[in-house]
Amino acid sequence: MELPLENPLRIWYNLYIRISLCRFCGGKVKDMKKLIKNVTAITHSGELRGCIGINGKVIDYIGAAEPSGYDEVIDGKNAIAVPGFVNAHAHLPMVLFRGYAEDMALQPWLFGKIFPAEAKLTPELVKWSSRVAIAEMIAGGTTSSSDMYYFCDEIISAVLESGIKANISRGLSAFAETDVSKLVGFRETEELFEKFDGAGDGRVKIDACLHSEYTNNEAVCRAVADFALEKKAVLHVHVSETESEHCECIERHGLTPTAFLEKCGCFRSPVLAAHCVWVTDEDMAIMAANGASAAHNPSSNLKLGSGVARVTDMLAAGVNVCLGTDGCSSNNNTDMFTELHLASLCAKGFRRDPQALPVSQAFALANAAGAKAQGRDDTGVLEVGKRADIALVGTEAPHMHPTYSATVAVVQSARAADVRMTMVDGEVLYKDGEYKTLDVEEAIFEMEKLVDKTYR
Ligand SMILES: [Zn+2]
Repeated sequence: MELPLENPLRIWYNLYIRISLCRFCGGKVKDMKKLIKNVTAITHSGELRGCIGINGKVIDYIGAAEPSGYDEVIDGKNAIAVPGFVNAHAHLPMVLFRGYAEDMALQPWLFGKIFPAEAKLTPELVKWSSRVAIAEMIAGGTTSSSDMYYFCDEIISAVLESGIKANISRGLSAFAETDVSKLVGFRETEELFEKFDGAGDGRVKIDACLHSEYTNNEAVCRAVADFALEKKAVLHVHVSETESEHCECIERHGLTPTAFLEKCGCFRSPVLAAHCVWVTDEDMAIMAANGASAAHNPSSNLKLGSGVARVTDMLAAGVNVCLGTDGCSSNNNTDMFTELHLASLCAKGFRRDPQALPVSQAFALANAAGAKAQGRDDTGVLEVGKRADIALVGTEAPHMHPTYSATVAVVQSARAADVRMTMVDGEVLYKDGEYKTLDVEEAIFEMEKLVDKTYR
């Protein structure tokens, strides 16, 4: 029955519908004001005990006093508020290959095990594995990820459903083909830009992509470089991950991978270079001069025996160094706390200097630097006016006692399981073990069913 326009019941019904739709349309009807109180916040300007106010998607208050006028209060007692982690280099669906091929060097691991397994991928496998990966990430305080993979429509569907942010790129390998228009991966990249760049009120960004120098040729690298420039996009690429990859590029082109990519025009765009274990001082200078970012993946580099990236040298040269987990096949998780801890230890051990990469500098690799690498200047720090991408790290567990410095506790002691709440654009995605947007049991069940059929 259609109610008359002026009927009070209709007015209330319409109001109910509009508020119900609010979270799906991006909070345009009525922005909820949330207050996190009694919390220790690691802010842009240091640690602070007090409150964080959120108006819709944006932080509108940080201070010691408790302000009024908020609709919902989140108790931050015994918790540390951090800017959500940015996983700056990942391959979400590779949770499928968690523990699939162990104790192998990168080249035989990649060409003998991973590439053949990836040849069996289907949209359904990517659909469910992406949801499992995102669930793992948001339960560990990650609010954004830079992903490179295949079947990106399915990954983006999971990103949009979950509420997380992501820069998505379609991994592009050309090998001998020099005409970029003949590459399915390139055509898919063009379609992704048309369909999804800026989707979810900006939560989804599409990046240009080259898988690497060693899986591509000069013509394709030049074409992708032009495409990234035209789209004003980040160019995501694996660079100098292993010594053999680095040296073989020099044999092929007389140039390091970084210098080769520069020759192809890639650095006219903001490059996100994953790994950079074997980059030279000259490579670092090219990266710094062009505002490039290096995604440091300590777990993956250690596990595959690739080496340890010269993080402190890259930082000193002016490179924006951020942190990533890489795929679960070479990690075997998406825990950014582990990466932070390892980044700190690797820098000190590699330099034989306990003062290398101090905790406050290490902390920023996991959020502010990642946001910069993604081209997201509205997030990555807890600061009034920035997007409310926040994780609450509980301090109840024995390994968090005593806490003298919140930053030290997060970098050196905390674990993903300590995360109590994860919020993206002011929306709570995970709280006290409960996923607010994803049916995680269904995703795990469906993924396991397909893994049984395809890989076991
Ligand atoms: Zn990778």
